Amino acid sequence: MKLLASYLSGAWSAGSGSRIALVNPATEAGLAEVHDGGHDLAAAVGHARAAGLAELGRLSFAERGALLAGLAKAVHGAREELIALAVGNGGNTRSDAKFDIDGGALTLSHYAELGAKLGAARLLGDGEPIQVGRTARMAGQHVWARRSGVAVHINAFNFPGWGLCEKLASALLAGMPVIAKPATATALVAHRLVELFAPLLPAGALQLLVGPAGGLLDVLGSGDVVAFTGGGATARTLRAHPAIIERGVRLNVEADSLNAAVLAPDVDLASETFALFLVDVVRDMTQKTGQKCTAIRRVLVPDDRLGDVADALRERLARFVVGDPAHDGVTMGPLATAQQHRDVRAQIARLAGETEAIWGGTGEVEPVGVPARTGFFVGPVVRATRAPMTCAALHAHEIFGPVMTLGSYAGDAKFAAEFVARGDGCLVSAAYSDDRDWVTRFARSAAPWTGRLYLGSSKMASQSPGPGTALPSLVHGGPGRAGGGEELGGERGLHLYMQRCALEGDASVLKALIGA
Ligand code: NAP
Repeated sequence: MKLLASYLSGAWSAGSGSRIALVNPATEAGLAEVHDGGHDLAAAVGHARAAGLAELGRLSFAERGALLAGLAKAVHGAREELIALAVGNGGNTRSDAKFDIDGGALTLSHYAELGAKLGAARLLGDGEPIQVGRTARMAGQHVWARRSGVAVHINAFNFPGWGLCEKLASALLAGMPVIAKPATATALVAHRLVELFAPLLPAGALQLLVGPAGGLLDVLGSGDVVAFTGGGATARTLRAHPAIIERGVRLNVEADSLNAAVLAPDVDLASETFALFLVDVVRDMTQKTGQKCTAIRRVLVPDDRLGDVADALRERLARFVVGDPAHDGVTMGPLATAQQHRDVRAQIARLAGETEAIWGGTGEVEPVGVPARTGFFVGPVVRATRAPMTCAALHAHEIFGPVMTLGSYAGDAKFAAEFVARGDGCLVSAAYSDDRDWVTRFARSAAPWTGRLYLGSSKMASQSPGPGTALPSLVHGGPGRAGGGEELGGERGLHLYMQRCALEGDASVLKALIGA
């Protein structure tokens, strides 16, 4: 079986120790193995700080942007191969795989264009000069300067392509070298991407660690950054690590999220807004088998619409064919890992104790294209609660699978915002309405509880990507349970990898420093 190697200190090396298997989650067939250690991680960090930092420091934003454009082109060139890897190793349908791979290429291209716009600058200006002396001669100017260390990117299993590319794009454009650590279970896509990217980048700019992180954080120091995407429990372990609490390593966390969607009382069942709501909810339940950090988990609809919404969901979900995504006609694949399968089944059982079945019972399914009792399958599940504000199983645990819970309300915008807030901090939440007064009341109260607020309406329906799509131009991250981190958002995405510094001095010197 193929043994995946890490790319560290300028060479591919398989490491040593016990072997961990990567499997096809539909068939459970082994695909590859990785060793669980045996790498000189201090040397890899040293290589990034010496070679990578120096090489990237010689380049302007425009030149680094040109490198990103080359990476985007490489993704396009290997698109079919990457899609096949995602179908085999991630349980993705072809459409799921395209979402991951094309999303990665789009994000690289976005940051390539930003690099071209930022041009020859070395420091990024932040706001206007401020007079701090008696005359305008004595000035202050905030600037962003790249951090002097390595960016460690720890990613979740669900987006091995996009996850690697989105973090890489911001860090490289800011000028920081990267060590990428994909989730082990689905590392094949990330591994292939680094095989493609490494020859296109300066020495030390990109390294790859496959397998467990081991002692990687132990060798980090104050100039370094860790950008983590994954579960809240792992995030808690990282937050308590001495690198973070004692040595001042900057940590960005993207974690669990109980994203909500609310249907406002003005929405007619025959309207475009309702159609958009339905498409978004069903897409989020089933795309990537519900394993999207941005997926809608909690839905609130007006009391008098509950029955109709439940019927519409039943009608849509009945069309889904669950099975091995390598088979024609399959529209939803398995969960990505055996652990995910156990977790999701246990969490559905807990939710079922407090809710009623609307569709899919507790996820039992007979998958197409695989022998009985093979693969990590669960069918789409819709549950309903009569107590949307107090249902503990609904607001306390993210079920990272094709599961959604419906509740109903009288239509009050503030109540709807409070429902969003019960998630304790979301990556994204959505409201569907054509009533501007209702939307205003809702948005003012809900905005502090969510990193992104998607306002679905008839006017934008035809061009909406849906709330589940993280865009490179808008920030991705959320407060509270969602981790409190922030990525992307155009130029804002660079700031994680840069230090804001308040320059104070002669106004003309400050002006020259930012190239104004
Ligand atoms: P996970 O188990 O927390 O793993 C995430 C990453 O952390 C993996 O690369 C994992 O490596 C690594 N890791 C685990 N323990 C570590 C440690 N002690 N030190 C350093 N790294 C460690 O999460 P997952 O199961 O892959 O992903 C599912 C979760 O991620 C869900 O809860 C979901 O909400 C969340 N998620 C959030 C976002 C977002 O943008 N907010 C996006 C996607 C997913 P190994 O694979 O080698 O164990």
